[in-house]
Amino acid sequence: MPAEIEYNIGILADMIKRDEKAVVAFYGGEPTLEAEKMRKMMNVLPAKKFVLQTNGFFLERLGEDVNKLDSILLSIDGRKEVTDFYRGKGCYERVMKALNFLKRNGYKGEIIARMAASVKTDIYEDVMHLLNHFPYVHWQLDAIWSTMWDVDEFWKWAVENYMPGIKKLVRFWIEEMERGRIHGIVPFLGISSRLLHGGDGLPCGAGRDAISITTDGKILACPIAPEFEWNVLGDLKAYKKIEIGEPCRSCEVYEICGGRCLFAYKERLWGKEGFNKICHITRFTINEIKKYQKLLMHHKENLKYPPYNNTTEIIP
Ligand code: SF4
Repeated sequence: MPAEIEYNIGILADMIKRDEKAVVAFYGGEPTLEAEKMRKMMNVLPAKKFVLQTNGFFLERLGEDVNKLDSILLSIDGRKEVTDFYRGKGCYERVMKALNFLKRNGYKGEIIARMAASVKTDIYEDVMHLLNHFPYVHWQLDAIWSTMWDVDEFWKWAVENYMPGIKKLVRFWIEEMERGRIHGIVPFLGISSRLLHGGDGLPCGAGRDAISITTDGKILACPIAPEFEWNVLGDLKAYKKIEIGEPCRSCEVYEICGGRCLFAYKERLWGKEGFNKICHITRFTINEIKKYQKLLMHHKENLKYPPYNNTTEIIP
């Protein structure tokens, strides 16, 4: 992909104009390296919402224009030692600095801590830590295309740490809900929302409701895999859509899970065994939440999430 945008922004603006619920998400690399271009695009594109995924290093370059963003996802993996282990020394502090910048600016949009959960993650400890600082916490499992571990190591962690941690986290979330407080644990909010209000297809919408536009004007289903042929849907003139098929369509949790992740569905880099293990974790998480359906019903109106496609994938 070329480093600079080569397509005509006017053509993109026309395309967005035809979608009355359009959301534009800036995604990288690191979008704030091009703060001036972001500013220009937020002024020109007729979107209803703007979302940013950022490591927070250069967020201050946006100045007061940061308030034009409706959701900001800051990449942070939990406690300081965990974040700095994955991302490099000093990353945790830089994200906290960005968070303070948002608070100083009276930022009113949604702030989401966006974690990758991997070899050093204690899901309960790391999510609880971030909830002390952020109103929303979301995570994705470092699985399928990981460089940190293989399927066996991943599974050992899932059995010993992740699934017990999820159980404990759900219990905390539910006990707090009983006290009238709903914490912004994004996967739990999103799963509850689908249980109570229904849903359709992949929660991230990749390939059907959400597309990714590359710097050379190609349209991809999913922004992370530009080199795969199935992922290239067309260009700014015309594009096709793709959807999840079997085995997901016949799966008992399809309405909630939606197929989880298009890339993982298409490219089974950990084979059938890896795919099935992740499905096991997905079903486990859904079932842990489902146990409390009665209580969730009481909070039905407060459990609609996400309010628009804010790029959280819901199923970790
Ligand atoms: S749990 Fe697995 S098989 Fe079922 S819908 Fe999700 S990804 Fe597809």
